[in-house]
Amino acid sequence: MYDILVVGAGPAGLTAAIYAARAGKSVIVLEKSNFGGQITFSPKIENYPGFEQISGNELADRMVSQALGLGAEIEPAEVTGIRKEGYKYITTADGQDYESYAVILATGAAHRRLGLEGEEALIGNGISFCAVCDGAFYAGKKVAVIGGGNSAIVEANLLAESAAELIIVQNLATLTGEKTVGDALLAKENVKAIFNTVVVGYESDAKGLTALKLRNTDGEESVLKVDGAFIAIGLAPANGPFEKNVALDERGYILAGENCDCGRGGIFVAGDCRTKAIRQISTAAADGAVAALAACNYVDGVIAGNPPVGRNTMLEDDDEK
Ligand SMILES: Cc1cc2nc3c(=O)[nH]c(=O)nc-3n(C[C@H](O)[C@H](O)[C@H](O)COP(=O)(O)OP(=O)(O)OC[C@H]3O[C@@H](n4cnc5c(N)ncnc54)[C@H](O)[C@@H]3O)c2cc1C
Repeated sequence: MYDILVVGAGPAGLTAAIYAARAGKSVIVLEKSNFGGQITFSPKIENYPGFEQISGNELADRMVSQALGLGAEIEPAEVTGIRKEGYKYITTADGQDYESYAVILATGAAHRRLGLEGEEALIGNGISFCAVCDGAFYAGKKVAVIGGGNSAIVEANLLAESAAELIIVQNLATLTGEKTVGDALLAKENVKAIFNTVVVGYESDAKGLTALKLRNTDGEESVLKVDGAFIAIGLAPANGPFEKNVALDERGYILAGENCDCGRGGIFVAGDCRTKAIRQISTAAADGAVAALAACNYVDGVIAGNPPVGRNTMLEDDDEK
């Protein structure tokens, strides 16, 4: 029996484990793939306070060893479901049941891929998803943004501030995001768009991506030389296993406000998997701290026979609207 079980060992889940362990709680983190989460795909991080520059893998290693050093357990296992029995949560992962008083969901959200050959190896080596994270590496260079919806427009606008040349590759005839913002973007001198065109492959050398292979709706193929490409076709949370436990918004994110409380008596949420405006390491870590301290308070209440009533401020706000 653990006090707190955390699903996902990204920055949110590991921060939650660090806070919970330091508060004297027994805590286990279950992770289905990479200890460290999405940051393990980032070769260079320059915006996490305290580190002018650090690789995602090193930051992940430091978070993992800090959590382990404080007494948290971290195990490789994919969580497939949670159920409540009295004041106990039973979490099933890889066919095994784990018991805890509270659960923190920190499952993240993965950027949608194009699924083309060689793509995974090029992530962090020319292919990126996040202009806030990686845009600075392409200052003065030629970059492409793949996609034409609101997220692509946001990424492109940021990149256009520093890139020498920015090319939007969109499969439809127009940008589909906010029109005034899209029009202003296309009016910039260093921005051009290639419409009705899809990316069908990548060219690369030993250093990374060198070009995109394109095909338009007439079937004509071409090669676009670039220094980097940002795939901006949306994020996909993986909260399916928890849809019966918590409220999800229409895009599958867990509905919860800044207090990270799902309002379901003992389930908390942290990081990219919840409804929020900014998905970054610092905001994930902040959520991890908030969720862990709320979970600790809940566990103390359960043990004292007086569990606090959870408040999902996001649902309450919705009720008021
Ligand atoms: C290439 C790249 C570069 C980036 N660069 C930066 C940067 O420079 N600066 C910055 O601030 N942000 C950056 N980000 C964004 C940052 O990585 C995320 O905002 C952050 O990792 C979110 O943390 P998280 O813990 O919420 O989720 P994640 O890091 O996504 O971790 C969630 C974890 O949960 C696991 N999981 C999911 N479902 C289950 C399940 N059912 N059972 C068990 N485990 C499960 C996943 O495998 C994953 O490891 C980058 C992202 C990418 C992809």
